[in-house]
Amino acid sequence: MLDSDRCPCGSGDTYGACCGPLHRGDRPAPTAEALMRSRYSAFAVGDAAYLGATWHPRTRPPSLELDDDQEWWRLTVLATHAGGPFDDGGEVEFVAQYRSASTGERGRLHEVSRFVREGGRWFYVDGDVGA
Ligand SMILES: [Zn+2]
Repeated sequence: MLDSDRCPCGSGDTYGACCGPLHRGDRPAPTAEALMRSRYSAFAVGDAAYLGATWHPRTRPPSLELDDDQEWWRLTVLATHAGGPFDDGGEVEFVAQYRSASTGERGRLHEVSRFVREGGRWFYVDGDVGA
C-alpha cells in the first residue's frame, strides 16, 4: 500500500495521512475510533504485527494468522461511546464487509468493540459480535 493510496478504513484520507503512520509506529492512535479504524486497515493490508501490538495483553491470542483469502473492502462505523483523548475506555460499533478472493462470497462482521487506554495508548480488549 502506498501512502498516496486511499486508506482502506474509508476515512476518505490517504493511507499516508490516516492509518499508515499508526501502522509504522510513527504516532499512537489518538482515539478508540482511530485505533479501531487502523486495526481494520491492518486486516486489509495484512499487518498481523500491528494487530498483535494493539491487542490488550490480557486478551491477545497467543498467535495471529490472517486469512489471505479474505478481502476486507468496506468499513462503516455506526456509533462510538467515549474513547476520546481524555477517556480511559471506549466502545466502537461497526460493520466490516469482506469477500472471499477465491469464491467471491461476501460476508459482514457487526461488532461492538471495547477499548482501554493505558500509558497513553489505546488497546483493543474484546467485542460482542452481533447479526
Ligand atoms: Zn485509515
